Amino acid sequence: MTEPTLFTKIIRGDIPSSAVAQGSTWYAFLDINPLRPGHTLVVPKEEARRIAELSTESRRDLMDGVVEVQRRLSIEFNTTDFSVNLNDGPLAGQEVPHVHFHVIPRTDGNSSNPMWRMTPHQSEPDFEALAALSQKLQLH
Ligand code: AMP
Repeated sequence: MTEPTLFTKIIRGDIPSSAVAQGSTWYAFLDINPLRPGHTLVVPKEEARRIAELSTESRRDLMDGVVEVQRRLSIEFNTTDFSVNLNDGPLAGQEVPHVHFHVIPRTDGNSSNPMWRMTPHQSEPDFEALAALSQKLQLH
């Protein structure tokens, strides 16, 4: 039996996460090392490495998840604009082998894609800030 991915463990609740929203086939939670405040990951509950390997239902629903996350983030961060990025496989920079969209609210007017900036990860995630933002976003 293969080991479940990190994101499957998060979906099952075996590893804690800061929830943003969920549907029947997808789950959204805050990235532990945000490139910008509100950086959210939207993942299918079905485990697959690449979007082409997903069932049609999961693949279609995933975009509804992205839009629902945008709706919530737009209220919290007072913006209509987002960077939405998916690294589809390891050669594209995918670190966790489970399909995931990065949804990042943009408020700074800087058009460069934050995913292309080499940002060193924080040494220690700010779990308190993530939990507080998660609570607010789940109410929107
Ligand atoms: P990628 O490089 O596209 O595979 O993105 C993986 C993302 O997962 C990175 O932005 C990480 O910060 C994020 N990440 C890794 N572990 C966790 C975790 N336990 N909870 C939330 N996000 C995570």
